[in-house]
Amino acid sequence: MVKTKSVKTKSSESKAKASKSASVKSTKAKAKKSTATKVIASKSTKTKSVKAKTTIPQLEDYHWDAFNCCGCKGCVWVDHVYCSGVKYGMRCPSLHEYEMDTYSAIGRSKLALGLLDGTFDFNETTLDIIYKCCLCGACDIGCKRNLDLDPGMVLETLRIRAVEKGKGPLPAHKKLTDKIAKSGNRYGSSAASRGNWLPKNIKTSKKPDMVYFVGCNSSYKDKNIAIATAGILDAAKVKWDLFPEEACCGHPYYVAGMADAALKQAKRNIATLKKSGAKTIVTSCAECYKTWKVDYPKLMDKPTEEMGYKVIHITELAAEKIAAGKLKPTHPVNLKIAYHDPCNLARLSDDWVPWHGTRGKWGVTEPPKQYRRGSDVPYQPARDILNAIPGLELTEFIRMKENTMCCGAGGGVAEAYPEMARNTADHRLEEAQDIGAEAIASACPYCNDNLSYVAADRDRPIGIYDVTELLNASLTGRGI
Ligand code: SF4
Ligand code: SF4
Repeated sequence: MVKTKSVKTKSSESKAKASKSASVKSTKAKAKKSTATKVIASKSTKTKSVKAKTTIPQLEDYHWDAFNCCGCKGCVWVDHVYCSGVKYGMRCPSLHEYEMDTYSAIGRSKLALGLLDGTFDFNETTLDIIYKCCLCGACDIGCKRNLDLDPGMVLETLRIRAVEKGKGPLPAHKKLTDKIAKSGNRYGSSAASRGNWLPKNIKTSKKPDMVYFVGCNSSYKDKNIAIATAGILDAAKVKWDLFPEEACCGHPYYVAGMADAALKQAKRNIATLKKSGAKTIVTSCAECYKTWKVDYPKLMDKPTEEMGYKVIHITELAAEKIAAGKLKPTHPVNLKIAYHDPCNLARLSDDWVPWHGTRGKWGVTEPPKQYRRGSDVPYQPARDILNAIPGLELTEFIRMKENTMCCGAGGGVAEAYPEMARNTADHRLEEAQDIGAEAIASACPYCNDNLSYVAADRDRPIGIYDVTELLNASLTGRGI
C-alpha cells in the first residue's frame, strides 16, 4: 500500500516541475485514505536535508531514504520486465551470498535508522553487515524503479560514519589503504616504476589533448590493459600523455568509508591535473572513471559539470573513433563473447548532482532533486566496439546494463570477504556459460582479475578479456 501511494507522488524531475498547489490538493485527498501514508507524509514534512558543515556526505542526509524503505524488494530482484527466471533474478550479490534480508539494502536501511537513533551501535556484527556489500549500486537503481530513494548513499554514508566513529574500516581495508598512504599505490610498489609498462615504440605528446590516468592495477599488475589502451590511443592518432606523477585515484579509501583520506587524494590528483594544463582525462579502469566523475564531485559537494575537467573511458573514445572511421578493426577475433557491464562504468557513473533542499508532503522535493538512475551512462560504447570486431559474436548476459550483476570484487569485498567475492564471480561465470558464451569481455581490470581467478580456480572453461585487449588485437593482428 505504501509502495503504491509513494509511486503516485514520486518526485521525479518532471513531476516536481508540476504545479505545487495541485500536488498538495491531490496528496491531501489521498492521505485521507491511508493511515500508513500519513505517517510518511507527516515525517517527510519534518525532514530537511542536513546541510553538512563538511562537504563530505553524512548519514543524516539520507535519513529520509532509510526511513521510507517499505521492504518492497525492488532493490533485491531484477525488475520482472527483464527477469527471465529465478536463477538469475537476483540483483543483490550480498543477499545472494548470505540469504538474509539483513544483508540487503532493506536490512542496512533499518540498521542506519537504528544507528541514527541510538538503538544500535557499531560493533563486530553491525560492521560485518555494513561491509559485506559490494557497493555495486544494483539496489539503488532497483529502488528508483519503485520509490526513488537513495539506498546507495545510505550504504556509503554508513561506512563514512563507521570510520568517523573510529570503528571502521576493517583490518583488510586498513592494510590496503596503508600501502596507498605509504607508496601512492595499492600494491606498495615503487612510484618511480609506475610508468614502466609503456612500450618504447609508443610516443606520447608534449602538447597533449588528454592525459591517460592508468590506475594502479594496469600500471603494476594487468599491464596488458595499459599497453592495449596506449596502442589504441596511438592508432587513433590521439595527442595524449601519461597523467603526471600518477598516484592511486583513492577509490579504496572511499569504499572503505575513509572519506577524509579520499578527499585528500582527490585534491592531490586534481591539483596535479591542473598543473599539467590538461582538461580531459582518459581512463581504462572503471573504478578510476567513476571516482573522477562521481566521487570527487560528491566529496567536494559540487556537480560533476563544475569540476573543470572531463573524464572519459577508453571505450567511449574508441567507439567514437571507430564510428568516425579513424580506427579500423580488421583482424578477426573468432569468439562468442558476453559483455559484462562493470558497475562503475555502468549504473554507478551518472554525473553527481548535489541536492540540499527540503521535502514537503509525500516527499516532494524543493528545489526538485535530480535522481541518478543509471540512465545517462556509457553502456553502449563497449558494445559498439565489440560489434565492430570481425568474427566476434556479441551475446548478452541475462542481467545486463542497469541490471548487471557485480563480479563480486567491488566495495572492498575482494579484500575483506574474498569468499563472497569468489562465489559471486562464480555465479556470474555460470550465467555466461548458461547463455552459451565462450568468453567474457569487461572494461574494468578488477572485474577482469576476479573473474579470471575464479574461472581458473573453479575449472570454468571460459576466457576473460578486457575490451581494450580485444580491440587492440583486431587492430594489430597480434592475437589475444
Ligand atoms: S530499499 Fe527501496 S527497493 Fe529496497 S525494499 Fe526499500 S523501498 Fe523497496
Ligand atoms: S550495493 Fe550491491 S551488494 Fe550492496 S546492498 Fe546494494 S545490491 Fe546488495
